[in-house]
Amino acid sequence: MSILHATTGLDLDDTAVGYAYRSTADLRLAYWLFRLLRWGWVVRWANWSGAKALSWRLPVEPLLRSTLGRLFLGGETLEATLPILANLRQFGVEAMLDFAVEAAQTEKEAEMAFQEYQRLLRFASQHREQVPFVAIKLTALAPPLLFQKLSQEAPLASTLEAFHSKLQERLEALCQQATAAGIGLMIDAEESWLQKAIDTIAETYMARYNTQFPWIYTSVQMYRRDRLDYLKGLLARAGNYLPGIKLVRGAYVEKERAYAAAHNQPDPIHPTKAATDIAYDAALMYCLERLDHLGLCVATHNRTSCMKAAQYLILKNWDRRHPHFSFSQLYGMADPLSFGLAKGGFRVIKYLPYGPLRQAFPYLARRAEENSSLSDQSGRELRWIAAELERRRQAAKRLYP
Ligand SMILES: Cc1cc2nc3c(=O)[nH]c(=O)nc-3n(C[C@H](O)[C@H](O)[C@H](O)COP(=O)(O)OP(=O)(O)OC[C@H]3O[C@@H](n4cnc5c(N)ncnc54)[C@H](O)[C@@H]3O)c2cc1C
Repeated sequence: MSILHATTGLDLDDTAVGYAYRSTADLRLAYWLFRLLRWGWVVRWANWSGAKALSWRLPVEPLLRSTLGRLFLGGETLEATLPILANLRQFGVEAMLDFAVEAAQTEKEAEMAFQEYQRLLRFASQHREQVPFVAIKLTALAPPLLFQKLSQEAPLASTLEAFHSKLQERLEALCQQATAAGIGLMIDAEESWLQKAIDTIAETYMARYNTQFPWIYTSVQMYRRDRLDYLKGLLARAGNYLPGIKLVRGAYVEKERAYAAAHNQPDPIHPTKAATDIAYDAALMYCLERLDHLGLCVATHNRTSCMKAAQYLILKNWDRRHPHFSFSQLYGMADPLSFGLAKGGFRVIKYLPYGPLRQAFPYLARRAEENSSLSDQSGRELRWIAAELERRRQAAKRLYP
């Protein structure tokens, strides 16, 4: 038993708790899928051919739907997520819905995403018990080029000017709708060359809407070398409002390194995983010490970081469901952490994407890549799933010897 386990009394490896919501058939599928995902070349090939097959309209959707889709997606429509929301709720776990759509390139795509976000917020307000948060991606509401130009403080062409003013109108409407309905709105963090503009925009709306409560959240990627200073600056600047911070490690290590090399820029990412972990936990403690003055969502599958956050609240004798505090993990990942924390009385929000498979494919491909290339995530998932399948086999043997 680890020191963290002993001091918190939490068991974040209890697979019976972690997978109670999953059928044995789903777990078998997850086992084989996570085994496959460990082969980097298989994932690269599958992602490449999957994208091609979808663009050529080959009939691969049923296969995707019954594999990656079944494990990581909430469904293809909002209504399709309802059984999953009810299932999670049974175990005290809530959800943050995310319309899985990639960056907009045209006004039509931006408008489509905006309308879906409005619909999503209406849905969340009707199912507030199950969906207290909604995630949005600013590049779904305007083309990435706009954020790049704004980040560089470069002049905007008239088409980008038009996108910019539309973006402001749309964000104002979404923030108003979310806060009026009592739903939190979390803005995703994206690539570093877009993020400066996203930071500025997120701060503007947090300052406007978070004067009483942290409704609007920005995301801070702690794999970036500059983010601890950014976080401290953000909290210092936020004199009369409560910033919402979704703390993540960051999803684009390889892309960031490649971009920096191609543009002759210094690598913005910490040199090692260990350095990212240190930065994440430092930021975590910095936020926890100021929890009355901000909102904090600990968005990670990292067991040690989750344990540290839980331990802090427990040792300080703070309310485990402090209204400013939550844990979040992606749907279909790190379930023993999510359900173990929920069982321990903490607020846990599963990040649940939904959307048509064709549009959600890049999200699924990212999950596949994340589980193959960088981390030992798939190893961790596999060990948990294998342990649970074995536990169920033994339990069945005892029942029917
Ligand atoms: C609820 C939720 C919301 C999220 N939202 C966002 C978002 O808005 N934007 C975003 O970018 N990501 C987001 N992510 C993804 C997140 O950033 C991580 O990619 C993912 O969660 C894995 O990190 P971890 O903390 O869970 O776990 P771990 O497995 O402990 O850490 C893996 C992470 O460590 C870092 N890392 C790995 N190898 C190295 C290395 N060699 N050098 C430096 N760092 C390294 C990377 O960030 C990698 O993703 C989100 C994740 C969750 C759970």
